[in-house]
Parts: sequence; C-alpha cells; structure tokens
Amino acid sequence: MESERWVFLNGEYKRKSEAMISVFDHGFLYGDGVFEGIRVYSGNVFRLHEHMVRLYESAKSILLDIPYSLDELEAHVVETVRKNQLVDAYIRLVVSRGDGPLGLDPSECEIANVVIIVDKIRLYSQELYDKGLTVVTVPTRRNIPDALNPRVKSLNYLNNILAKSEAKQAGAGEAIILSSDGYVTEGSSDNIFMVKDNVLYTPPCYLGALKGITRQTIIDIAGELGYPLKEEPFTRHDLFNADEVLLTGTGAEVISVVQVDGRSVGKGVPGPVSKDLISQFRKLVTVDGVSAFPSEVKL
Ligand code: PMP
Repeated sequence: MESERWVFLNGEYKRKSEAMISVFDHGFLYGDGVFEGIRVYSGNVFRLHEHMVRLYESAKSILLDIPYSLDELEAHVVETVRKNQLVDAYIRLVVSRGDGPLGLDPSECEIANVVIIVDKIRLYSQELYDKGLTVVTVPTRRNIPDALNPRVKSLNYLNNILAKSEAKQAGAGEAIILSSDGYVTEGSSDNIFMVKDNVLYTPPCYLGALKGITRQTIIDIAGELGYPLKEEPFTRHDLFNADEVLLTGTGAEVISVVQVDGRSVGKGVPGPVSKDLISQFRKLVTVDGVSAFPSEVKL
C-alpha cells in the first residue's frame, strides 16, 4: 500500500489525514486566498520561480501577506516534493487568509494558512492526448477584469467551475470561456492558442485570462521554432476556421483541440504545428526546473 502523503502545513509536515485547518479559515468561508499548481517532471520542479512570483503577485493584489519570504516558501515547496519521494507529480500550493471571526473583513484574520500538497494527477486519458479534445464555448462568461481580475489566481474558481460543468453537461472535455463582449479568453483551467496559416494566436491576458506559465513556455518554444505569434483578440468564428487549436496549462499540459462547438478544427486531428510544439514541450519539461532530489538519487 502506498504510504500517506506528507503535507506542509504552516511550517510543519503532517500526514495527509492529520493535515487540518479550521472551518473558520476565510479561504473556506469566502474563497479568500490564492493558489498555484506546479508540475514536477523527472524530479525537477518546472518553472518554480515563475509560479512563486505569480503567487506573490496574486497575494499582493488581494492584500494578503504570505508569512514567508519567496525564497523560504520556494525551499518548502522543493522539500515537500522530496519528502514525498515523487518524481512526477503535481504540487498544490495554497495560501488562504487564515482563521477569523464570521464576517468578511480580512483584517480580523491573524495569519495566513500555508499548505503545500504533492500528489499525482492526470486530467485526460492518453487517447485524448493522441486524438485531441472536443470543446464547447459555454454560456458562463469570464469574470470581467475590473471585478475580480482573472490574472489573480485566487481561491474563487466558481466562474471556472461553472464553465467546466457546462462543458461536461454538453459532453465536451473542456470549456472555452468568452469575455462579456464575446472574445475567446481561455479554458476553465488552461490558456488557448490557435494556428492559422502557420501563425500562432493567443488572446491577450487583459481580455480576461490567467498569464499562464505553460502559455509563456509555448510562446518561447514557438519563437525558437520560428513560428510567428500574435497576441490579439479573436472570436468563435476565428476558432471555427482555425487550422489548429490547442490548450495549455500545468494540469492539462499541452493538448490539441479537434472540435469546437460541433465544428471540426482543420482536418479534425492534431495538426503539424501543435505536434511540433508538443514534442518540444515534452523535451523541455524533463530537463528543465529546480531539482528536488540530491544528484545521487537515480531517477
Ligand atoms: N487559466 C486558468 C484559469 C488556470 O486556472 C490555469 C491553470 N493554472 C491556466 C490558465 C494555465 O496556467 P498555467 O500554465 O500557469 O498552469
């Protein structure tokens, strides 16, 4: 039997069944907090620093003090991976507002709760990675950036959860969420790219999308491979007529989309540009990142 995972909880390592936080935590009561999802590939924590920077920026945006320096917390993330002895894993780093009285006021909460969970994850079957995903655009629109900015990776994911449920109800693997004025923004937990005439397009994040770390990795790879890239708004019509569509995210990694709202994308199979980007991505992730294991550990 697999031993229970270790969870980092406010400076201590606890077994999963003993890692508890109060029901008075404002993360639980109000979704008040921020989080990150990070991958470990072959013992290397991928783009750790970028994830940490995004976490601290999200926290600053919601006036949340993280009770560790970025470097300290980064070290705790690496140590939690090492303690769990998982070389291919997903890390969930959560900072919630902490315990407080009932009532919204965050200034009543004394100190943030910091949790690091490391576990395995698989969002889609191998078949879907090979054959591509069916997606639909959903009725729920993306939060408008001047309300809760989607660039803040907050614990308030209801918008995304509703979108995902609507996609599932429609029999699709993922939701494509539009902005309130009808532009394509992102998936429920992934960014979106399309390819048209060998040019890659991705929506600018100001439309209402998270500044995805996988998105940036694909932008960098596209640059290295010589594919021109444009960050500009596009619509469902553009998606229907794209040659290729793909989604990127830490959980989903990079996956081709072969159908949007019942329309085949291109030839209805993963296209050549997507395949090229995916194969470069796979090469990169296994060699890049912060090693969580001493060099003598054979992976
Ligand atoms: N958009 C949303 C809403 C997400 O939750 C995620 C997952 N973090 C992404 C995009 C992809 O971002 P990343 O590549 O940094 O995981």
